[in-house]
Amino acid sequence: MGILLQKAPLIISGPCSAETEEQVMQTAIRLAATGRVDIMRAGIWKPRTRPGSFEGIGTKGLPWLQQAKKETGLPVAVEVATGKQVEDALHFGVDVLWIGARTTVNPFSVQEIADALRGVKVPVLIKNPLNPDLELWVGGMERIAKAGIEELGLIHRGFSSYGNTEYRNAPMWHLAIEMKRRYPGIPMINDPSHICGRRDILQAVAQQAIDLDFDGLIIESHIDPDNAWSDAKQQITPEVLKEMLEAIRWRKENIASEEFHMALEKLRQQINQLDDELLQVLSTRMKVAQKIGEYKKNNDITILQTNRWNEILERAVAKGNVLGLSDDFITKYMDAVHMESIQQQNKIMNS
Ligand code: PEP
Ligand code: MN
Repeated sequence: MGILLQKAPLIISGPCSAETEEQVMQTAIRLAATGRVDIMRAGIWKPRTRPGSFEGIGTKGLPWLQQAKKETGLPVAVEVATGKQVEDALHFGVDVLWIGARTTVNPFSVQEIADALRGVKVPVLIKNPLNPDLELWVGGMERIAKAGIEELGLIHRGFSSYGNTEYRNAPMWHLAIEMKRRYPGIPMINDPSHICGRRDILQAVAQQAIDLDFDGLIIESHIDPDNAWSDAKQQITPEVLKEMLEAIRWRKENIASEEFHMALEKLRQQINQLDDELLQVLSTRMKVAQKIGEYKKNNDITILQTNRWNEILERAVAKGNVLGLSDDFITKYMDAVHMESIQQQNKIMNS
């Protein structure tokens, strides 16, 4: 069995960037001492959003990783973005390669990496692209698979958005869940560090990934996080990582207990029943919307009436609150319902 599937959950950790030989070695020793880390990560070439910041130590850092592996036995993983970087990493015995989010967005780059991987046997992890485009993520994986790489994994690192939110990169869990559904055999690893961009919520995101049956975690760690040359705000020491992993409640997807399965089955039947009812009600709602569409058509009235839409939304959010449904959910749900109504009315108006 390959390294990515050997242990579930797989724990990958190490600095955002390899900075000095000493830092790489000390990190490796302290990570190995936790007894919980399976692979050490370190960025050698760093894709930075703006020029002028630390862009990675480059090929010179690869022997440091080789040495760290020799000392601790930890396999090492490095990000690659070009064919040359693939060659260099392989030359220095890197065990696992990963493709970064800024590379997955670019099919030319992924193809160049794939071409450099032809005839090579090395596990490759593919991070989700920066933008929430599932097909781009799939395409990246397909290019690498077509090059003959058999051991593939996916890393969910969140999606960039405009403006400040709680997260550095919005998790959009549903996209990772959809990838898991489409490719059940491919390990899905969560990257709380790049999702959070800060330390205080790492634990919660890691826990959520485990609750969603992810196959592993990749978490940045540094011997002196505050003084890290990149991503200082999100890194933690190997010892804090150990505490974090100990505090996580590990869950399994399944157990053998008959009683558990029967109880679950009953509740699932209820869910199916309720879903059927919801669909019925939605269909009835759309029929009413169609009737309204007829009236609007006959009277030459626009489909969208902003006041009415505001009123519907406010009403729904208020009611949803009373019923324990979040504003965010109600807004998304009503948006989807509203868009479907508009589409249905559009058909009528223009028929
Ligand atoms: C990284 O892992 O340090 C990195 C650059 O991540 P991403 O590609 O997810 O931004
Ligand atoms: Mn980083």
